[in-house]
Amino acid sequence: MKFPGLNLQILLAALLGIAIGLLFQWLGEADETVQAGLYLSGVVGGLFIDLLKMILIPLVFTSIAVGIANLQGHEQMHRVWTTTLIFFGFTMVIAVLIALILSNVFRPGAGLQIAMFADAMQNFKATELTLPQFFEHFLRGLFVNPFTAFSQNNVLAVVIFALFVGIALVMGGERYRHLHQLLKELLELTMRIVGWIMRIAPLGIMALLIKLTATQDAAMFASLGKFVAIVVGGTLLHGIVVLPLLLYLITGVTPLRMFRGARDALITAFATSSSSATLPVTMRCVEQNLGVKRDIVGFVVPLGATINMDGTALYEAAAALFIANLVGIELNLVQQMIVFFMAMIAAIGAPGIPSAGMVTMVMVLQSVGLPAEAIAILLPIDRALDTIRTAVNVEGDVVGSLVVDKLVNQGRNS
Ligand code: ASP
Repeated sequence: MKFPGLNLQILLAALLGIAIGLLFQWLGEADETVQAGLYLSGVVGGLFIDLLKMILIPLVFTSIAVGIANLQGHEQMHRVWTTTLIFFGFTMVIAVLIALILSNVFRPGAGLQIAMFADAMQNFKATELTLPQFFEHFLRGLFVNPFTAFSQNNVLAVVIFALFVGIALVMGGERYRHLHQLLKELLELTMRIVGWIMRIAPLGIMALLIKLTATQDAAMFASLGKFVAIVVGGTLLHGIVVLPLLLYLITGVTPLRMFRGARDALITAFATSSSSATLPVTMRCVEQNLGVKRDIVGFVVPLGATINMDGTALYEAAAALFIANLVGIELNLVQQMIVFFMAMIAAIGAPGIPSAGMVTMVMVLQSVGLPAEAIAILLPIDRALDTIRTAVNVEGDVVGSLVVDKLVNQGRNS
């Protein structure tokens, strides 16, 4: 019998992981086999994420620096920048609109009693974060000593430093050709290591999904059913209809081709709930399976993994309206517009790690006077919802790089 290829292995591993997780859930945590299985899954899944994180920083740094340096000529660089930012912004706007429309139509939380959640809210202390504080925190995190940024896995600061290096390489031209060459080779080398890590991806993904599925609180899902349905439905609508449609209209790439090419990245995002940890896989898929040029991939995808989060933006807006309904506050149009902007800012500012959206959500709630402690209600279900929104966050980066590749090259040829 022929051994299935890596793509198929990853898909099968994900399905098997969910099935075993459900079985564990059914057997209950008291069972010794389940305990041993969960322990082992924790170790294997953790190691897989460690490996991805190990390669993340070298990959982000070299790919952005080389990506920018290869874009040679200011005009093209400018075009890539603007196209990327406009596209990312546009898709996030649509995502938040979907959340607002669905929440206004279906009004999740309106029939629930806030008293049901009083205990959880009492034990939860939200980290206060006002808008000016958030901005200050965000801005002060941009320019960091590169060694500190590298050692602390600070992806955003590494992106910024790499941008500077890339631009300096372009300006210096021939003078820095050795350094340029060195960085190119380093990038090659890191991609090779990513290839090795991918070989154990099926195992890592299976382990992560076993643990995730086995430890979900099903009762909590049922009581928040309508909200969960809106978040999942809205996120899927964005991921299965809006993004593929935009992609098709702009580039002519069919949804099937995109999903096939991006499948490993989407499954990894689903299992890890981290766009950052998934980044090495996303870059590999976009370049190798979807044929986007390395310069574009190297710039658009890492930037997208840090700032472009459609799923998170949608979630933040839906959660704010849900909590408003729950505590019986009617948000007027102006307040909903505030939620609209804050959800976008909160998504841009959220790092690509599990449950990051929950931290920045405090700011969205506070901006319209909602109690930050209400986040405690969402905590038990967040990890599960994070799977789908992270997958859509990553899909947005994949679609963005295909769109930028097409639009920039069209400009070059015309
Ligand atoms: N987990 C998400 C991501 O990495 C961020 C979030 O919590 O919304 O993309």
